[in-house]
Amino acid sequence: MYSIQILQGDITRLEFDAIVNAANERLNGGDGVDGAIHLAAGPGLLQECLALGGCPTGEARLTKGYSLKAKYVIHTVGPVWFEESDHESRLLENCYRNSLQLAVEHDIRTIAFPAISTGAYGFPPGPAARIAMGTTREFLESGNHSMEVTFVCFDEGSLRHYEAQI
Ligand code: ADP
Repeated sequence: MYSIQILQGDITRLEFDAIVNAANERLNGGDGVDGAIHLAAGPGLLQECLALGGCPTGEARLTKGYSLKAKYVIHTVGPVWFEESDHESRLLENCYRNSLQLAVEHDIRTIAFPAISTGAYGFPPGPAARIAMGTTREFLESGNHSMEVTFVCFDEGSLRHYEAQI
């Protein structure tokens, strides 16, 4: 059995086995949710990230959570939106699939995702929410995984896009 929930809030404050970071390919921190996660986790997170040697777009890497309430952080790199293209959508699907696969491999039962690529990377929030929910459902159903997945929306607009997918 799995469950999917949606809530509005700050992902850095929540207590899950893992939270997902919308990282960049160098895994060297940045703005947005990435910056907020590094700030809340403390400098150990950056050190571990830099030792990983980067992460290609669509893939995911796992680190400890350091000072976060979450035990782990799963860093995934969303695509930068240039124009409506299947390629970018496939890459965003890969972010969710690869993050969930890592969670399964590490026996993570509760996981929270931000709206990957919808900030600085410019992916339109409606299609991004559809990909997030659709890919997650498909992954959990096809593998018969028991996991609690939470989509954490920072603002109300983002929340509405997720609610439209229920
Ligand atoms: P990207 O570079 O992948 O677009 P951003 O961090 O710029 O990543 O934005 C991704 C999403 O994360 C945006 O919807 C943004 O509003 C949201 N966000 C920013 N800070 C937080 C936070 N502390 N908790 C949850 N979501 C956040």
